Amino acid sequence: MIKRTTAALFSAFVLTTLGFSDGGQAAEFLSGIEWAEPAVVDPGKPCGAPSDAVVLFDGTDMSQWNGAEKWTVADGCVTAGPGAIQSTPVFGDCQVHIEWATAEEITGDGQGRSNSGVFLMGKYEVQVLDSYENKTYFDGQNGAIYKQHPPLVNACRKPGEWQSYDIIWKAPRFDEDGQLTSPAFISVLHNGVLIQNHFELQGDTPYDRPPSYTAHPDKGPIGLQYHGNPVRFRNIWVRETPELESKRVHEPKVVKK
Ligand code: MG
Repeated sequence: MIKRTTAALFSAFVLTTLGFSDGGQAAEFLSGIEWAEPAVVDPGKPCGAPSDAVVLFDGTDMSQWNGAEKWTVADGCVTAGPGAIQSTPVFGDCQVHIEWATAEEITGDGQGRSNSGVFLMGKYEVQVLDSYENKTYFDGQNGAIYKQHPPLVNACRKPGEWQSYDIIWKAPRFDEDGQLTSPAFISVLHNGVLIQNHFELQGDTPYDRPPSYTAHPDKGPIGLQYHGNPVRFRNIWVRETPELESKRVHEPKVVKK
């Protein structure tokens, strides 16, 4: 008797899982939301940019950047020189890919070793630093959201080796009075390793005062910092995050087939 009951329950579970109920009739849940078709994107060759990316540096010139007169392009990469630079194209919510290498020859220590930074919207820094066997304050080491949150792990390669960041950025929102309505969020993969997981920013990332939000336009440039060190960069591209259109065409329901 007990066995038969268990078998019946199992049978009902299997039928339900397979979408059958009520005497073997198939059922399907319909959300009632009609989605626009996701766009087709060619992901490109390995190490290449996807077809919908804005390429900010492909190894040949710095025409997409402002302030880069003293940055040097050679051998497919650009070396930081005096002056921070900002991209001419501006972005809101986006995905950023950037490759960089710290100096092969070690000079300085702490914050003085191959310091640079990737700035979202020109204001929010993901630290670039040679943190390979080089201790500094943790919320200022490589991969930190500067002065706010250390990387979850230290995935640094050795000095001189090429490394990558893949950054997922959700921009902050402000209302028409300049009040913050939604903070910024960031996720970062460093050499493919998750080091920031949907971290909520407390504001911008200065050295000399607490973070704070000040209203700014919906889109801003990508910035790269010059901190006195010849950090190299290559293969920089950005994808604006698409918004999928949708509309409700009916209430959620289960239909029998
Ligand atoms: Mg920096």
